Amino acid sequence: MIADPLGWARQQAEPHWGRLVSEGPQGWADPEALLRCMDRDGIETILLQAWYWENAETARLQNAWHAEWLDRHPDRLRACAAIHPDMSDPLEELKQAAEWGACAIGECLPQIQTPTGWLHPAWAAILEWATQQDWTFCLHVTETVGHDYPGRVDTPLMELVDLFEQHRGQKWLLAHWGGGLPFHSLNRRVRKALANVWFDSAASPLLYDSRIWRTVHDLLGPEKILFGSDFPLLLYPSRERSPGWSRLLQELESSGLPESSLQAILSDNFSALFG
Ligand SMILES: [Zn+2]
Repeated sequence: MIADPLGWARQQAEPHWGRLVSEGPQGWADPEALLRCMDRDGIETILLQAWYWENAETARLQNAWHAEWLDRHPDRLRACAAIHPDMSDPLEELKQAAEWGACAIGECLPQIQTPTGWLHPAWAAILEWATQQDWTFCLHVTETVGHDYPGRVDTPLMELVDLFEQHRGQKWLLAHWGGGLPFHSLNRRVRKALANVWFDSAASPLLYDSRIWRTVHDLLGPEKILFGSDFPLLLYPSRERSPGWSRLLQELESSGLPESSLQAILSDNFSALFG
């Protein structure tokens, strides 16, 4: 998969993933490379997010990898389960994921996973299970107003607001600053809908300038932000040849936020959601 991503994508019938890893700054890493970078940059624990595969079989394969990696590095890794609504029994897959140590679901991107998107009937049962288990549901969100890039998929923000209102007991983690949804939190309806929604900074430098930290912090509070990177994405492609966290950490640390907020963003919010 790492040596020949395009060949692997063809074999697995995962054209969207193949496009992202071959045409943009997205890469892929094995756990040993990941651990080496974590040690180098002073990262203690990470949450491995899963991919939004187009095929149920690839999602099952990634769950098997995550299970093996958690087994190897239980002190350094947490993991999400990959899920696909066409799995023969998605709830059974999730129960098995809980047994191997997963603690959340996603990233999901229903718009790319099946032609029917959120209308696929299995999502309702998956969400009900996640709410019952108090598992956070991680979503890939694209900015509504922003730049174009290979494989861009629209994720309408108002659809998400409706979804959060329909599932008020469910916790959500929205990647990539939620596609700018925090900017709309001044709207009363949106603010209410975001009661159980957290945001991560994955890919932030590719999308926003460094004032994003202070802006979202002031809009939503430090307790709603998690430090995310999208590793092994190259976050500063003109300045770095290999992925890592040190520049993004520097960006956050020079944002002028108080120490207590940095503690929340870099550690406490992670522990609260993922143990
Ligand atoms: Zn994403």
